[in-house]
Amino acid sequence: MFPSHGGERSIVRTGLAPATQLAEFATEDVALPSFHLWTLGCQMNRSDSEEMAGALSAAGCSEAGSLESADLIVINTCAIREAAEQKVIGRMGHLAQLRAANPSLRVVMTGCSVRANNTASLKRRYPQIDVFLRPDEEPELTLRLGLAGPTAPGLMADQQRYELQRVGASVAATADQLPRTRAAAVGEGRVQRDSQISAWLPIIYGCDKTCTYCIVPFSRGPERSRPFDDVIAEARSLAAAGYREVTLLGQNVNSYGHDLAPDPRFANVHESRNLGRRLALDGRPDMAALLRAIDGLRTADGVPAISRLRFVTSHPWDLSDRLVSAMADCPSICEHLHLPVQSGDDAVLHRMGRQYTTEAYLELVARLRAAIPAISLTTDVIVGFCGETEAQFERTLEMLREVRFEQVFAAAFSPRPGTPAARLPDDVPRAEKKRRLQALLNLQEQIGLEANQRWVGQPTEVLVDTVRRPSGHEHDGPGAPRVSGRNRHNKLVHLDGGAELIGQLVAVHVDRAGPYALAGTLANA
Ligand code: SAM
Ligand code: SF4
Repeated sequence: MFPSHGGERSIVRTGLAPATQLAEFATEDVALPSFHLWTLGCQMNRSDSEEMAGALSAAGCSEAGSLESADLIVINTCAIREAAEQKVIGRMGHLAQLRAANPSLRVVMTGCSVRANNTASLKRRYPQIDVFLRPDEEPELTLRLGLAGPTAPGLMADQQRYELQRVGASVAATADQLPRTRAAAVGEGRVQRDSQISAWLPIIYGCDKTCTYCIVPFSRGPERSRPFDDVIAEARSLAAAGYREVTLLGQNVNSYGHDLAPDPRFANVHESRNLGRRLALDGRPDMAALLRAIDGLRTADGVPAISRLRFVTSHPWDLSDRLVSAMADCPSICEHLHLPVQSGDDAVLHRMGRQYTTEAYLELVARLRAAIPAISLTTDVIVGFCGETEAQFERTLEMLREVRFEQVFAAAFSPRPGTPAARLPDDVPRAEKKRRLQALLNLQEQIGLEANQRWVGQPTEVLVDTVRRPSGHEHDGPGAPRVSGRNRHNKLVHLDGGAELIGQLVAVHVDRAGPYALAGTLANA
């Protein structure tokens, strides 16, 4: 509720048109709301939510323990598949009940479901929402709520701040404020990170690819790289704060830098062999330069200040030789790469607009394995894409058998309104998609088990991050697995030990393997 406590906060004079600012929060006699962030979807959303939580806290709001106890709910949506949107639609009834019980409750929707030109239909679909913010408008959150937030008045209020660009048949806003507002949030300590062990570090916003099934370019706009020095400054601050692991984020991290201004420091960066397009990188920083610079942040003993460096997601088309070399050379870069393949059939890949062939993908895998023999590869697959025949699906299974990915994130194709693929016939019946998905998961379970069994009897280093509750068949006695974490190859490892291990890098002896995880004991116990 918003009990009346006059003068508890000040009001930001925004210069925004009145219709874009939530009137109810713009009066001076309400208390600060307690907020709850409901985050769906990918790591980028989780990172964005950390920034929004930081902005709300900096505005003086407190965090509510649950959706039910909040005065302000922020839903950070995912639109990648229909099921993700259905989750939110399915909660509208519950939100209506909460509103009836708490008339002061306000609900904000952001994330990939909110796009430049769909607010009218969103209002019909989500009647309980008060404010819709596109992902690039998230820095305006406190401003739009009428809360005295960290966003400097005038910074975001400039009505000229967006250029609208056509992406396919749609229009996306290309606000260039995100790198600037992120740097300010980091500099002022306003990123409320979920973990004190592993941190997300966004390096590039948006996506320039045109995968025909994907909504992301429509919701997040074209690529905008963060300035090189801003990324290094954030990495440095994470190292100083004791973070063990940093994951660089972007929809396509490998094209980092192509949109930045040339800089004499990167005069040595030229095109290097890429699978696909030649990025105009001459004199600009690239992903390899960025990784080497973060790896170069060292302690007094000369070891990497951030022990583990990861990055997602990599589009095969932009994975350069320079990047592969950096991965091989830098001790902090983990021996794991998530490299979405999507399909094992060239005609399907072509319809998906993925811009590589299966042969080129396999050649890239061979290059990676030659340079980093222990590398663990994981991937994304879509089954039942428009026109996918049984034979084409079989070729995807063949790809899995050939590459032997350690893990596969697979989903049935879900047509997304407004994407090019939504105009193709969605002709694989739902039941058939389900069958193919299950067949693929069954195969991968076997491959995953065999891959994991190779770890049994081996030592591995685990960054412990979770206390586990023993499951039904486990005993609570000595030796029962109690904590878990990941090794450098991104394998989930369960082990004995207590909460005192959280945040530590420990040596583990692997005793057992299942298809999805390893189990072991502390090597020096
Ligand atoms: N940028 C990454 C890449 O290069 O593939 C992936 C980003 S996307 C948010 C994550 C995954 O969602 C994709 O790799 C794809 O497998 C899946 N995905 C995207 N659109 C989909 C759709 N319409 N139906 C089913 N799965 C989809
Ligand atoms: Fe979507 Fe393709 Fe961009 Fe990944 S690379 S976000 S799948 S358009």
